[in-house]
Amino acid sequence: MKLSKTSKMPCLSWSLIAKDHCPGSRGDDGKLVPACSGCYADDGFYRMDNVRAPRLHNAEDWKRDFWVDDMVTALQRESHFRWFDSGDMYALPLAIKILEVMRRTPWCNHWLPTRMHKFDKFARVLSDMAALPNVVVRFSSDSIRGETIPGPTTSTIVSDTAQLPANAAVCGAYTRKGKCGPCRTCWNKDVPVVAYPAHGRVMMAVIARAG
Ligand code: SF4
Repeated sequence: MKLSKTSKMPCLSWSLIAKDHCPGSRGDDGKLVPACSGCYADDGFYRMDNVRAPRLHNAEDWKRDFWVDDMVTALQRESHFRWFDSGDMYALPLAIKILEVMRRTPWCNHWLPTRMHKFDKFARVLSDMAALPNVVVRFSSDSIRGETIPGPTTSTIVSDTAQLPANAAVCGAYTRKGKCGPCRTCWNKDVPVVAYPAHGRVMMAVIARAG
């Protein structure tokens, strides 16, 4: 499998292609939800062939035997891991395999942001993941105005500080040139909501259009 290391993150990720592998990115009307309309992973760096290639590879690779074993081996020395800096856990058999990786790597803290909470058939596997002490599953809100959704650990996007939910921790990556640095808030089960300030050319255009 192909692991990625983005400049922002302090750890490795396993990712797929944004939107193509994000069934939760579209509403009942077939249109992209606001948060996905401005997706950072559908622009710039993420359109480069050498960035798309490993993500396309991963979309087939997870289906093979021994993928779980290989992931467990790859995480032997990792204290933190992020699933999906792009894409989402689009298929239930993939989710079941990821759960197995999480169970077999208790030394590693896993953060899994997702919109698959929209689909009832994922409820059990998401619940089983969230029950593990080394896993934070964050349900992503579709909002770009700070609206939150039910769930033990969630996230939302804000375009103005007045939109900050009362119980949210604000992502401070923008104060560190877009890097997490020492922050591990997204991996913290005690933080119910992480609010990400809107950023990036595409997202700012979406917000400007929304008025
Ligand atoms: S809240 Fe912290 S860990 Fe999460 S993305 Fe922002 S800087 Fe990184």
